[in-house]
Amino acid sequence: MALQDSTGTTSVTRTTQLSPEALDDALAPLAAILGDRLLTPSADEFAETAAVFVGGPVRTPTAVARVRSTDEIAAALAVARDAGLPLAVRSGGHHQARHGLVDGGLVLDLRLLDGVDIDPAAGVGRAQGGVLAGAYTAAAGAHGLATGFGDTGSVGVGGITLGGGIGYLSRHDGLTVDNLLGAEVVLADGRVVRADADEHPDLFWALRGGGGNFGVVTRLDLRLRELRTVTGGMMMWAPAPETLATVLRTFTEGSEELGGMVNVMMAPPVPMIPAELHGTPVIMALLCHSGTAAAAAEVFGRLRALGPVLDGVQEMPYTGLFEGPGGPPPGGMGDARTGFVGAGAWTPDEAWAADVIQAVSGAGGPAAVNLRAMGGAIGRVDPAATAFAHRDPTLMVTVGKFAPDVESLPAASAWVESTARAFGISGRGYVNFMGTATEQDVRNAYPEATLARLREVKRAYDPHNLFASNHNVAP
Ligand SMILES: Cc1cc2nc3c(=O)[nH]c(=O)nc-3n(C[C@H](O)[C@H](O)[C@H](O)COP(=O)(O)OP(=O)(O)OC[C@H]3O[C@@H](n4cnc5c(N)ncnc54)[C@H](O)[C@@H]3O)c2cc1C
Repeated sequence: MALQDSTGTTSVTRTTQLSPEALDDALAPLAAILGDRLLTPSADEFAETAAVFVGGPVRTPTAVARVRSTDEIAAALAVARDAGLPLAVRSGGHHQARHGLVDGGLVLDLRLLDGVDIDPAAGVGRAQGGVLAGAYTAAAGAHGLATGFGDTGSVGVGGITLGGGIGYLSRHDGLTVDNLLGAEVVLADGRVVRADADEHPDLFWALRGGGGNFGVVTRLDLRLRELRTVTGGMMMWAPAPETLATVLRTFTEGSEELGGMVNVMMAPPVPMIPAELHGTPVIMALLCHSGTAAAAAEVFGRLRALGPVLDGVQEMPYTGLFEGPGGPPPGGMGDARTGFVGAGAWTPDEAWAADVIQAVSGAGGPAAVNLRAMGGAIGRVDPAATAFAHRDPTLMVTVGKFAPDVESLPAASAWVESTARAFGISGRGYVNFMGTATEQDVRNAYPEATLARLREVKRAYDPHNLFASNHNVAP
């Protein structure tokens, strides 16, 4: 049965409620294996362990299993399967739809699976299923190597990779899924398999964009590239349409070595931003140029000619971009919609840029439009080659609004919905940036042919839909 909670997220109920005694009995075999790593709500650390990055309406699991091995994962899956308990798999816990939590069910917490093995000779980084992007980036950086994830170190390598992975290096190196060489997966029936181009290629295809639908990924083998120093950091401009259009065109018409994102947002009242801009829309870019210093100087020269009010761009180790918490503070609430704009030769013009600035200034509160250039290596991959099929767009656009409390969420959602419609981004979306997980969201994340193929793979590997706390591909 499919249910929607107050955030519009669809969850699949696997069972009627068990009595407390029946629940204890069901969990007993797992408690015998995990000891105090099986946390129930009476445990001191339960609340902290069962929290995820995004705040909002509360979901309370029955237990959290802090697993350390494929055997322990297989045992936990058997308990969930046999007792009909809803199951959530949690890695970095950053998904905005709070997939890592499930009401009345079992959370498989992968955070103790945090090993990283960097193999410079093979050019491969091997990450266990609970590794965070920042930890992997630091380990690879110690060898002068890197794999591209997003822009925030606290995001889980598991979640970002399985959904796609768009970040600083994507226009040059492709998405994170384009650099996934293989994975070790614990399937719903407890079998441990390898998925790559030769073994279980159908599963390997589905893992590259299909999210957590197909099993628990305990190891990801990722292609490394050489990268020590980049030119990067933050730049900010006052909100002029010609500035925004030029900044965006510097990406879309420029070097693939330039990556990052541009936010049009209300400037918060912080000392680093000039006081006259507080509470007004500003253009804030987080940038990374992974080419030579001379090539970077040419690109940033263009951007500096636009007269930034803040310029923190400098030469730095690539790892420097992932240090510190990054991103907004945990526990924040709000809503967001993501979609894609343009294709082929389309580039954002001043009229389009003016609409973006106007939307943010009229939002009536903290809101942002986040713009990321696609293209380059992302667009050179055949849309059928991976389950991430949105290969042709020019820009990925996220419209978001913060909510100070749960009561304000519906109003934030209404603004987000109407603004997303106005920008024509309601029809296709990025599964990693979806705050809700309705059936329509799943159809937006995957074109029809991709979704049909994902269903086939789901029927082969998880026919009873054990892995349902995600953007669910029904078998
Ligand atoms: C501050 C912030 C910044 C972000 N920046 C970017 C960015 O720059 N680029 C980008 O592409 N995305 C970005 N994201 C989105 C992010 O990629 C997704 O939220 C992603 O799902 C987070 O992964 P996680 O492991 O932290 O999350 P979780 O909530 O733990 O997991 C998300 C989903 O993946 C599944 N999953 C995770 N690990 C595994 C595993 N090992 N095996 C099986 N299933 C698994 C879970 O079951 C769940 O369905 C950002 C999110 C935040 C909050």
